[in-house]
Amino acid sequence: MQKGSCACGAITYELDDDNKAAMICYCRDCNKTSSGGALFLRTDKVNLRLKGSPKFWATNATQSGKESRRYFCPECGVHLWVEVDQWPSILTLKVGTLDDYADITLATEVHTRNAIKAFQPVQDVGQKRIP
Ligand SMILES: [Zn+2]
Ligand SMILES: [Zn+2]
Repeated sequence: MQKGSCACGAITYELDDDNKAAMICYCRDCNKTSSGGALFLRTDKVNLRLKGSPKFWATNATQSGKESRRYFCPECGVHLWVEVDQWPSILTLKVGTLDDYADITLATEVHTRNAIKAFQPVQDVGQKRIP
């Protein structure tokens, strides 16, 4: 089990998943909300136990055309996770909101076409341009 919160503590969570293999996403929305790429853990929605009342921003200006929702704390503005209707049972949780992220590893990079040019590919990690 892993635990986490937003910056101000109005929203806390427990994650029933010990997965530590993260992905970096460089899609435009992740770049805008995370200042140049975001680290996520993919997990089943049922694994997240939440305390607090996040808001979300929804858009279907995604490459799949399916809606995505970015959940954030209405007090401090920190983004906590993303849901995409293309994968209805999955959420992607922002690694930086975990209480302890020292043991996180990198599994893949996605939407690398939008990566800042100064960022070099991470060694021994698969890259996906999508599409
Ligand atoms: Zn907060
Ligand atoms: Zn993204």
